[in-house]
Amino acid sequence: MANETIDWSNLSFSYMKTDYNVRCTFRDGKWGEIEVCSDENVTLHMAASCLHYGQEIFEGLKAFRGKDGKVRLFRVDENAKRMQNSANGIMMEPIPVELFEQMCKKVIELNARFIPPYGTGSSLYLRPLEIGIEPRVGVNPATEYLFIIFATPVGPYFKGGFQTTDVAIYREFDRAAPLGTGRLKVGGNYACGMRATAKAKANGYSAALFLDPKEKKYLDECGPANFFCIKDGVYVTPKSGSILPSITNMSLQQIARDLGMEVQCRPVPVEELAEVQEAAECGTAAVCSPIGKIYDDGTDITYNIAKDGKPGPWTTKLYNRLRAIQLGEVEDTHNWCTIIEGI
Ligand SMILES: *Cc1c(COP(=O)(O)O)cnc(C)c1O
Repeated sequence: MANETIDWSNLSFSYMKTDYNVRCTFRDGKWGEIEVCSDENVTLHMAASCLHYGQEIFEGLKAFRGKDGKVRLFRVDENAKRMQNSANGIMMEPIPVELFEQMCKKVIELNARFIPPYGTGSSLYLRPLEIGIEPRVGVNPATEYLFIIFATPVGPYFKGGFQTTDVAIYREFDRAAPLGTGRLKVGGNYACGMRATAKAKANGYSAALFLDPKEKKYLDECGPANFFCIKDGVYVTPKSGSILPSITNMSLQQIARDLGMEVQCRPVPVEELAEVQEAAECGTAAVCSPIGKIYDDGTDITYNIAKDGKPGPWTTKLYNRLRAIQLGEVEDTHNWCTIIEGI
């Protein structure tokens, strides 16, 4: 696609072909050379461990064209560390942090013409993924892995402006087991969450809010995003062994502290939703997605969080500050952004 034909402000969160992806293979006990590839396809042995035994992990991060024209990659070191953690968690080969960062930079440089201009609300989304490629019939971790990063431009999450959506709690589904893979960014977690999300959507909600899988008493995660709420000016976010540590949530907690707020990371009982003034989902895709109502199917209670249906003042402030850091509009006091020079 010629760049002139891309409607940057109206991109959706979906795949668009770009020029190149980058790949690296682990074989014979070591990572090979970085390969630049224009093919979108992957040729795999039909017995590859990723196809049978779920040896697949991934990441998601964004690069932004800033107000000053510079390209900023947000917290790439954190994504690299988290991917190592995911790899270790399901017996895959961890990707060295330097290799991860180098390949992220390379894929951005190679696809520079797909970085959306400043002011469009869009960004270049990077999707690193690792799969076990060795043929396996018996259940054993593979000894050969393929690491790929592709890049695709994605649009602003909120087409009609920053607004609330409603979510629902269904106790008949879990997305992860108490001591399972919830803390890891593995594809299998998403498969587990799909039925709950489908039910939520069929009932007119934007996402399913999961409870802790052990006791079903505490809030866990909201679909593929973390959850936080604002209670009397305090930033409260659930703590549990089955939550994926969101880098957006970690960043918002720091911003909350910077704004002078108290931050609590602790088990949050469902009933406490009656006492909060704001709630939101958070993740790379949306930064924050404010929640209007939360319907609990188990008790038939609806928590009407945003009474006027609008995003609350703290959520809005946190959202604006994080976006401003990513776009170079305010000083990056925590050194979260890596500037990609020369593009
Ligand atoms: C990726 C992901 C998130 C969000 O993490 P960010 O680093 O903020 O993008 C939250 N929950 C789950 C289950 C995820 O996979």
